[in-house]
Amino acid sequence: MQHAEASVRSQLQLPRNTRAPRWRDVPDDEWNDWRWQLKNRLNSIGELSEIIRLTPDEEEGIRASGRLRLDITPYFASLIDPDDPTCPIRRQVLPTAQELVPFDAEMADSLAEDRHSPVPGLVHRYPDRVLMLITTQCASYCRYCTRSRIVGDPHANFSPAEFEAQLDYLRRTPQVRDVLLSGGDPLVLNPKVLESVLRELRKIEHIEVIRIGSRVPIFAPQRITQELCDMLSQYHPLWLNVHVNHPRELTPEVSDALDRMTRAGIPLGAQTVLLRGINDHPVVMQKLMRELVRNRVRPYYIYQCDEVHGAGHFRTTVAQGIEIMESLRGHMSGYAVPTYVVDLPGGGGKVPVGPNYIVSQSRSRVVLRNFEGYIGTYTEPLDYAGPDMAVPPEWVRTEPGQRGVSGLLAGEALAIEPKEFEDSHLRGGGTHRLNQDPRKWQPRGIGAD
Ligand code: SF4
Repeated sequence: MQHAEASVRSQLQLPRNTRAPRWRDVPDDEWNDWRWQLKNRLNSIGELSEIIRLTPDEEEGIRASGRLRLDITPYFASLIDPDDPTCPIRRQVLPTAQELVPFDAEMADSLAEDRHSPVPGLVHRYPDRVLMLITTQCASYCRYCTRSRIVGDPHANFSPAEFEAQLDYLRRTPQVRDVLLSGGDPLVLNPKVLESVLRELRKIEHIEVIRIGSRVPIFAPQRITQELCDMLSQYHPLWLNVHVNHPRELTPEVSDALDRMTRAGIPLGAQTVLLRGINDHPVVMQKLMRELVRNRVRPYYIYQCDEVHGAGHFRTTVAQGIEIMESLRGHMSGYAVPTYVVDLPGGGGKVPVGPNYIVSQSRSRVVLRNFEGYIGTYTEPLDYAGPDMAVPPEWVRTEPGQRGVSGLLAGEALAIEPKEFEDSHLRGGGTHRLNQDPRKWQPRGIGAD
């Protein structure tokens, strides 16, 4: 059911230099200065009610203590529809009383990032890449933030000693080839500090790719100066993923910022969080994906909203995500179709989810359906017996313990067992004459001899 105050106007994209009346007379050189934008962020009921007709629900959310910090850049605040509490920009950054409502399965650190950190601020969840949290500060704060346990809290920032420990871990861990800088938002860091991080990472020979995850191009596109782009371009290969959730965020200022980065040779991707009341409509997602590609940004992920404190009211069903993916694949260029993922609570990592296109399968045929419902058949080559080429041994990944299901297919093991599988199946009976020889269960040709 549609909210009584929901308006189409609050969904539409805005022209260049959109400013709330409060900032109409600010000189352009101040308005376009990212430091001015950060210094003049809004964070109180008094300031916000000068530009927005706040609802009682919002006022209660703003007053609540102990929640994620509130800060909104004047630029981003100017995109808010002042009269429509369902405005998708507004809902992302203005707290409401609904943040205070607990829900089943919520956690402070639902992705178990801190549990999978060999040193503070460095999450090593996947075999060859790490997430490096280099600040807890952002340009504005998203109410559904996965890292709300630390983000916005200056006391949670990482110390120089912890930062050195992160680098030290990277230097002595050659399996890491890809470092994703995040936080917080790396692009709010002092430019000299950010460059020193990049410089140190580039000294580590086995790190092939550096990535930055940022929402600064959306919250404060003024930060994407030519100077910043020139600096970043010295550390290629460097990729950047922009966090963007709604077409209304893609203003002319953001388009300019994205263009500057693209011209600096930085491949751009987008990550989007599926959020109730913000972008959980197929038409909104289609528009967003099309606009991203028009800006030369490749949609990379749509995330299912995490089960994190304060984000319950933003969550949709996974079924809604699948319906949205159904509306994207085939309906637009493959470049515009991201991967929809559920980041598994407890640190299981991102699992791709989507419609099922395989209708059935036999030894000789696969029956598939397309986005239109057309059902066709692919005939399998019956003489195919797998790849028959030699590969350079140095290309083979050797990191331990993470081959997973791919390892099962390669014949490295017969099963992946839950931790207590063996013990529970002994049923307390211990070792006896029938179960004492483990060679009974060693399948010939599978696993190590
Ligand atoms: S920009 Fe990213 S890290 Fe910062 S509040 Fe938003 S989601 Fe969280």
